[in-house]
Order: sequence, then structure tokens, then C-alpha cells
Amino acid sequence: MGKTDSNEKNGKQQLKKVFLVIGAVVILLLVLGFYWFLNSIWPGKNGSKGKAEQTLQTIQTTPEGTTPQTTPEGAELTPGGAAEGTTPGDMAEGTTQEGASPGAENPSGNTDNKSFERQELLGQAERLALGYDYEGALSLIKSYGEEAGAYKQYAELSEAYERLEEEKETLVLYGGAYTSITQINHIFFHSLVADNSKAFDGDRRSRGYNMYMTTIPEFNRIIDKMYRDGYVLVKMADLVKKETLEDGTTRYVENPIYLRQGKKPFILSQDDVNYYSYMDGDGFATRIVIGGDGKPACEMLQEDGTTTTGAFDIVPILDAFIEEHPDFSYKGAKGLLALTGYEGILGYRTNDETSPTYEKDKEDVMEVVKVLKEEGWEFASHSWGHKDMYAISYELLKRDTDRWLKEVAPLIGGTDILVFPFGIDIEKTVGSYGSDKYKYLKEQGFDVFVGVYKEPWMQIKKDYVRMTRRPLDGQAMLQFPERLEDLFDVKDILDPERPPRDW
Ligand SMILES: [Zn+2]
Repeated sequence: MGKTDSNEKNGKQQLKKVFLVIGAVVILLLVLGFYWFLNSIWPGKNGSKGKAEQTLQTIQTTPEGTTPQTTPEGAELTPGGAAEGTTPGDMAEGTTQEGASPGAENPSGNTDNKSFERQELLGQAERLALGYDYEGALSLIKSYGEEAGAYKQYAELSEAYERLEEEKETLVLYGGAYTSITQINHIFFHSLVADNSKAFDGDRRSRGYNMYMTTIPEFNRIIDKMYRDGYVLVKMADLVKKETLEDGTTRYVENPIYLRQGKKPFILSQDDVNYYSYMDGDGFATRIVIGGDGKPACEMLQEDGTTTTGAFDIVPILDAFIEEHPDFSYKGAKGLLALTGYEGILGYRTNDETSPTYEKDKEDVMEVVKVLKEEGWEFASHSWGHKDMYAISYELLKRDTDRWLKEVAPLIGGTDILVFPFGIDIEKTVGSYGSDKYKYLKEQGFDVFVGVYKEPWMQIKKDYVRMTRRPLDGQAMLQFPERLEDLFDVKDILDPERPPRDW
């Protein structure tokens, strides 16, 4: 009995110990559970800033404005994907940031949607800041939460806010590259050759294409080189602003553009974005359309009469490049599209009132223009009939201008920019405009006059702006390669499929 008793006693004591241990474990689990619960509802406190802050710190230590180590095509960056909101060189961190499941920070397994939402917001803000829209980035962070100042409760938001504010202070006028906006480059192209075998097939138009056009591989190389050299696209609308004087009159003055140190603002334009019928079958896009994703795309007519949609010209190519490299564009700037009127615009034959598709074409092209503007593209007049505006009479210039204003201006919502056909200015002197031609054009609302010259040149006058552009076409590359030396070595750009100089 005694032995049994003591056995029983020992057994009971052991059982007690087991219960005590189990009890302790349960309490510990409850405490830990409560701690995790606190973490999930109270981010930024309890020392659990975790991954979000680590990622931000990593971004912070990446020097702004350094050249991203990507391949020319930006192959390391997934378009529209994880790279959003991180500096381009920061892909690995970016992947962690977006790739992490929302619940990953939360061992209790509860999905922390709010935390995910904040990461998304930060990604958007970072992207805006990369494109120099610091105001937009800061107000986006500020807008978080129901009540004003709610962002301050979240370490990741308030720290990003402070960091972006500091970063904004480090921006310098014209990137420190120029002392005046008048020194910037304005480069231009015509329609890109999308199919070399058709453009350079030896027919009577081949030589003209060889002189005045640039191929898609050449354009890609130029843009990539300029990006790596620190060039940043700006809009024509960013260059100058109107200042009101004491007497109530206005004058144009330079508009300051603040960029990261070492960056260089520049303008890109494209002439004759009309897809003229003479180019049909020669390997060019045939019009601009809105693609399935709601973005501008190019349509191209195939030999069998069907059409195919793709990136066959500057608009979709540059859009995609900036999607991958948001720091290549200042506040969403793209390029300037210069349009004539005699064959309609953007590949729509809106010049022909008798066309059975006249109304539909106008409707369609206005929708395309709307999307292009939303994407940052600007428009200019390139005259209606593409005549030498110096050589033609005042009367003819007036008629041509009136026709452009009647047929084209309503489709694009008007413009104050005139890009001279052939690059030939209405006046030969570089003093001040004073001709009747100038007066008429000014009366019709044109304030910015754009010619062609081998190097950057720009005048800001009281009533108008006059500037020139540099062509980056076959003639410039094959005949005057030395003029382009500051931009690139022509050898690195030339398409091997382009014929040798044949003029
Ligand atoms: Zn032209």
C-alpha cells in the first residue's frame, strides 16, 4: 500500500508539473499572440518597423541620379512591375517590397491590407519623385488616412516624407549643367523607319529616307545613350513663363527647372507626324491608335492589306522607355509632335471633307490626341502645306496659316508653337522679329518659333521665343558626324542596315 501510495503521490506531483508547464506555455503563447496583435494594429511602434523601413533605408542610400546598371533595353526592370517606386538600381529590394505577401510581416497570419496599401502609396510617391514631381509625391503621402496628418503615425510614411523633402532641397537649377535655359538641346526626328528592308529597298524614295529618317535601332541607341549621360526630357511648356510687368504688359522669362545634380534638360520633337500616303509600303507606321491597354500605339499596314499594332514609331517607344526609366522625364514630359494639315494628322485623313469616314476620323483622332496629351505629349503646327515660309509670299503664308488653324487646331486643342517646314525661319536675321509675317503669326496666337541649326540656340524675347533644333537623322550622322560629337559617337549609333551616304 505504502509503495502504491508513494507511487500515486509521485504520479500526482508529476502530473501537476506537466500542467504547470503546459499552463506556462499557454500564457507565453497568449502574451506573444497579444504582442503580435499589437504590432499588426500599431505599426511603427513596438520596434517592429521591419521590412518597410529597411527597404526605405536601402533606397535612401542609393545615390539619386546615379546611372542605373541596367542593360540598354532595361531588361532588368520589369515594365510596370516591381521596379515601380524604387530607384532603378534597386531591383532586388523592389522585388522584396512588392513580392512580399501582405501578411508576411504578420506572423499571426492576418492579412495586413493597410500596411500593403501604405507600401503601394510609397511606391507611387517614389515614382513621382524620380520624375521630379516632389510636390506630387509629398502631397500623396500627406493624403494618407482619414484625417489630416494621419501619415505621421506611420514611421515608413513620415520618414519617406522627410527624406523626399530633404531630397527636394538638393535639386539644382538646370541640374547644374547650364546657367540658362537657352543652352539646352532640342533634338528632332521624323517618322522612324520600322522596316529597313522596305525603306532602303533602292526605289526612288530610298535616298530621301536615308537622309532624313532614323531607324528604330538607332533611335533606341540614341535615347539610351542620352539617358545614361544624364539627359532629362522637359516640355516646351516648362521652358519659359509669362511675367506681368508694372505697366500691365507681359514678357517671357526663363522658367527655372530644378534637377538632380549633373542632369541635363533637353527637348525632343518629331516632325510630320502625319503618316503621309507617299510612305505607304515603305516600312513606316501608318497611324497612331489607342492600343488594347489604353495607351498610344502605332498601326502598320501589312503587305496582305491587314494591319498590325505595335511600337513602330517614337510615341510608343519613348512611352515604354519612360515607363521603365521614370527619371528620364521631368514631371511627365514626353515629346513635341509637329503636324501639317494637307493629309490630315496622325494618319487620319481629316483634310478630306468628302471622305465617307470624315466625321469618324475626326472623332477617332481627337480621342487619340486626348490620350497623347494625358501621356505628356505636346503639339505644334508645322504649317498646313509644308511650304518654305521664308520664300512664300505674305498672302500665301496667311492662307496656309488660316487653313491650319481651321482644319488642324481644333483637333489638337490649339497650340502656340510653330515648327518651321524644312527648318527655314521666316526671317534671316537673329535680331528681333519685325516682319509682317511674324506679326500675322503672332496675332494668330503663335509665340514660339522653332527652326533648325547645328547647335543649341534660343532667344527669349518680350513677346516670343525663338529656338532651333538639331536633326539626328541620316544626313547628320553620315555627312556631319562631327556636329554630334557632344551627344554620341555616330559609330555606336548607326544601323548597319542603313545604306552608306548616297547623296
Ligand atoms: Zn517637315
